[in-house]
Amino acid sequence: MNINITDPIFHDEAKALAHLEADRWDGEPTCPHCGSVRVRRMGGKTQAGMFLCNDCRDKFTVRTGTVMERSHVPLHKWLLATHIMAASKKGMSAKQMERMLGVTYKTAWFLCHRIREAMDGATGNAPLGGGNKVVEADETFVGGKARNRAYRAPVAKKAVVALVEREGHVRSFHVANVTAKTMRPLVVTNVTRDTYLLTDKASHYRRFGKEFAAHGSTDHGERQFVGRENLEDHTNTVENFFSIFKRGVIGTYHHMSEAHLARYTSEFDFRYNTRQISDKDRADVALRGIVGKRLTYRRTNALAA
Ligand SMILES: [Zn+2]
Repeated sequence: MNINITDPIFHDEAKALAHLEADRWDGEPTCPHCGSVRVRRMGGKTQAGMFLCNDCRDKFTVRTGTVMERSHVPLHKWLLATHIMAASKKGMSAKQMERMLGVTYKTAWFLCHRIREAMDGATGNAPLGGGNKVVEADETFVGGKARNRAYRAPVAKKAVVALVEREGHVRSFHVANVTAKTMRPLVVTNVTRDTYLLTDKASHYRRFGKEFAAHGSTDHGERQFVGRENLEDHTNTVENFFSIFKRGVIGTYHHMSEAHLARYTSEFDFRYNTRQISDKDRADVALRGIVGKRLTYRRTNALAA
């Protein structure tokens, strides 16, 4: 099922509230402070969505303990923004979100980053690969335009490494520089050792490729495996992921600051990992990621920097 943006949950605050409460608690509102279900809904219009816990006597709403907690953005706009971001293949700029939601640019920008935070890890953190599975690893560089190079100092490009299990999930990372030393910890903690690792022929992969069941490279002279002739030696899967990522960088975000690059990789990983489900189901996965995550003030400051 696709997203129907005329759905009242995107326009009516009471319906949005009911939707989020059902999503989070499935009919049994639970105190996020102490876990008690002995709670009661408070009356009065100014207290819409407010519960009082009979055990710890604290108050809470569906926002408490989520990335929405300190936000003043109405819930129906949160829902609309989450659905739009989940459904937009190349992402959605804060500028466009500002226009679509009727909020300030700053609000839209922060909203988008909080939704990325919700998407981070929402599709699971289990290592990629396994026996008879192939994981492709590769890196790409974003930022910096060659055509300006003659007139300006060259802009430092930012490296992004992606690990993609064929027919499976992707996990991508920003790294300060691409060396065996920076790459090895990422690869060995995110890919199981019984995996067939496929990379290009870069020497940094050769250093630790032997720690895996087998390591192939797109340069056939470097093949280090036997009995796997049925597997195709290519890194098309990871290259396809990068092409979507780069269309997002160029077409939507233009410039990703280094400080926030990890959030953008989370966003693109999330959409790739949910590519086989509908836009609506994908948005529901993102909404579940909202619960239990929250940007603290410290991280908020880091974000704003
Ligand atoms: Zn409580």
